[in-house]
Amino acid sequence: MDLNINILKRNELLAQKVIKGLESRNMTGYYADSKEEALKTALSLIPEGSSIAMGGAMSAHEIGLVKALKNGNYHFIDRDAAADKRAAMLESYDSDWFLASANAMTDDGILVNIDGNSNRVSMICQGPKQVLFIVGMNKICADLDDAMKRARNVAAPTNAQRFGLDTPCTKTGKCMDCKSPDTICCQFLITRFSRHAGRIHVILVNDVLGF
Ligand code: SF4
Repeated sequence: MDLNINILKRNELLAQKVIKGLESRNMTGYYADSKEEALKTALSLIPEGSSIAMGGAMSAHEIGLVKALKNGNYHFIDRDAAADKRAAMLESYDSDWFLASANAMTDDGILVNIDGNSNRVSMICQGPKQVLFIVGMNKICADLDDAMKRARNVAAPTNAQRFGLDTPCTKTGKCMDCKSPDTICCQFLITRFSRHAGRIHVILVNDVLGF
C-alpha cells in the first residue's frame, strides 16, 4: 500500500469515528474524499431558494461552495456588501442555512470556535434554521485539550495575521493570552451537543482546508 492510499484510508477511518461522535451529539456528519465531492454533498443538502448566511468560513470558499451559491438560485446574504450591515446581520440570524467552519474539532465530534465580533459563534448556537460546517481533516484533534490548543495557537494567530491586527500573536505566531483591543479571542464556543436534531451538519473533507 503506498503512502497516499495509507493516508486516504487513515483519514476515512478517522472520519468514521468523528461521524459516530457527531451522531452521539445529535449532529450529522458526512465524509467527502475531495473538495469536489464536498461541494456536491453541500449542494445536495441546501435546497434551491434557501437564504444563506455565513461567518468567516474559508473552507466554504476553498471547496467552491460560496461561489456556487452566489451564482446559483439562492438568496445569499452578503453582509460585507450590504449598505445596512445591521439589517443584513439580523436577516442572517433568520436565514435558512448558516455556513461555518471549525477552528478545531475532536475526533469524537466536539466543535471548537473562537470569535471576536461573535456573530459567527452566536449564529452557530441559535438563529439560522440549519448550520453547515465544512471541516478539513487537518482540523481534527485527539481531544478537547488539543482542539483548544489548536484553536488558540494555530487558527486564532493566523486569523489575526490575516486581518493585520495589532495583537501579540501577529508577531510571535503564538497565543499570548492578550487583552488587546484588537483581540479576536472574545468568545470561545464548544459545541458538544445539539439540542435540535437535524440542525447541525458537518462535512469532513479529506484535504487541508482553512487554518
Ligand atoms: S488571545 Fe490575543 S494573542 Fe492570543 S490568539 Fe487571541 S488575539 Fe492572539
